[in-house]
Amino acid sequence: MTITTEINGETLEDLISIHTGLYHPLTGFMTSLDYENVVDTMRLGDQSVWTIPVTLDVPHGIFKKALDAKKLWLTYNNKKVAFMEIHDCYKIQAGKDVLKIFKTDELKHPGVKKELGRSEYRIGGKTQITDKAVVRGALDPARTKRLFKRRGWKTVVGFQTRNPLHTAHEFLQRLGLDICDGLFINPSVGWKRAGDFTEEAVMRAYECMIGRFYPKDRVHLEGLKVYFRYAGPREAIFHALIRKNLGCTHFIIGRDHAGVGDYYGTYEAHDLARDIMRRHSLGIELLLTKEPYYCKVCGSIVTEKHCRHTGNNIERISGSYIRSLMKRGMMPEKRFMRPEVAKAVLSLGDRIFIK
Ligand SMILES: [Zn+2]
Repeated sequence: MTITTEINGETLEDLISIHTGLYHPLTGFMTSLDYENVVDTMRLGDQSVWTIPVTLDVPHGIFKKALDAKKLWLTYNNKKVAFMEIHDCYKIQAGKDVLKIFKTDELKHPGVKKELGRSEYRIGGKTQITDKAVVRGALDPARTKRLFKRRGWKTVVGFQTRNPLHTAHEFLQRLGLDICDGLFINPSVGWKRAGDFTEEAVMRAYECMIGRFYPKDRVHLEGLKVYFRYAGPREAIFHALIRKNLGCTHFIIGRDHAGVGDYYGTYEAHDLARDIMRRHSLGIELLLTKEPYYCKVCGSIVTEKHCRHTGNNIERISGSYIRSLMKRGMMPEKRFMRPEVAKAVLSLGDRIFIK
């Protein structure tokens, strides 16, 4: 008997990421062994580090049928896109698990809200995409690895972002360029939260920076379609593992990486990273960077590690401040964003922000 379940856009993204190897070593949706290990210990059943659950949730009716089935077809928009070899059917305790994953069970946390809105019935097993059209356009780790090799980059630093670059981002990227042969700017794309910068705005900003300022042939820009979980420290490690799979040797984890609201400490992701690296090899070097800001006395972008000034002498470079200015069509101050970059973004007019 074969059965069918309809998946949503995010599950499709996960399915594609499993297929391309972006989620290596995952070969399908997690079984209960992997799921529980990841939730409790941030490791897979084989003990390799993995911090974010990747599961398939199904309605109870499908779950009951799956108990006696070997194969589950997955449809998207009612079209068969993949099948799964059913290995394990299990029920999670979402209320308890979100506390471990997100460190909160408050519904106003977007990751918690999403997880608690899913069915608790999960099916694990190897997946196989049958409709190759869904993979088209996805970031392919085999291709990025080839590209880095062709360029002769022995070391590549990955940079995660969701915004047009401001001077603090630039500071960190130049730091990466100092250390590594290549810089891979890998913005999150494909999401649709109203009020955020569009993919076009982010790309336009980086195209300007790469075309006019950064060294030729040492920067690669390409978007990554992996939805946000807002799991803070755990997600920072997840982002690093994805970049390792894409061929990066280094990854920058800055202030409040993948955080939301004030659920996670400013450098909590650094603490988790250090803790994990003490005990396991991640296979990628993490650059744990402090927040760059503008110092009026030094007259430059600095971090607390190389400037002695405090208080009114320092000005934070705030993404939300820059966003609020640009929403009114205004240029941010030069010390916060390069005028060339700001102009490139502002020239998009009503295409700067997601509506
Ligand atoms: Zn200073």
